[in-house]
Amino acid sequence: MDISQQLHSIADTWGTDFFGVADLTPARAAILQQGGPEVASYPRAVSVGFALPHAIVDQLPQRADRTVTLSYRHHCYDVINQRLDLITSQISAALQRAGHRAWPIPASQTVNEKLLCGIFSHKLAAHLAGLGWIGRSCLLVTPQAGPRVRWATVLSDAPLPETGKLMDVRCGDCRQCVDICPAQAFTGEPFRESEPREARYDARKCEQYLVRMRETNAKFGVCGMCLYVCPHGRKKRAEG
Ligand code: SF4
Ligand code: SF4
Repeated sequence: MDISQQLHSIADTWGTDFFGVADLTPARAAILQQGGPEVASYPRAVSVGFALPHAIVDQLPQRADRTVTLSYRHHCYDVINQRLDLITSQISAALQRAGHRAWPIPASQTVNEKLLCGIFSHKLAAHLAGLGWIGRSCLLVTPQAGPRVRWATVLSDAPLPETGKLMDVRCGDCRQCVDICPAQAFTGEPFRESEPREARYDARKCEQYLVRMRETNAKFGVCGMCLYVCPHGRKKRAEG
């Protein structure tokens, strides 16, 4: 089995919902700016994602109820992040055994407290792997589950074949995520490759809203309404 087949086999074994390989070179400048030269030295990324449970996401409008909040935080963050980190650990080990560099980026990572972001954007890797488009919510929107997906990435120098083509933005005239956001964190601007995240999204507003929610809901505050409302996720729910 060659290394590419090995990675697909790991993804299948672990029940991954989304798997792709991205060429990172077109986004090198942005990656360098966000994560520095070590991160930007990797030419490829393996992107993996798990779909969130619809049964839990669909309850987010009732998130003032602690049962809903606890359920969302546990299964849509803690458990899925662990599943993602386990699979990226396996993928990295396989790449390393085959003689390649491989860096598993944690599923949940905020290292830049000023910009409230990690050293690398999982959504960027998934987008470049052709798994979805970046919506007005700045979330990666997939045709299969909308934005109801969590992602992780392995950076590597392995010459893996790319798995998909860039997907066009399919938001159209929709502004549901912009209108529903209780923090008014989105500007409503569509994703444009040349513009920074700040042109579309104020992460500080979202963070401040979540802090207020935690204060009023015994520290378990969550939101996720931008993720809940997207018709590309709700439509699949209705069909599913
Ligand atoms: S999680 Fe809530 S507050 Fe944050 S951006 Fe989404 S809708 Fe707005
Ligand atoms: S809710 Fe509408 S505008 Fe927002 S990401 Fe989804 S399709 Fe795009």
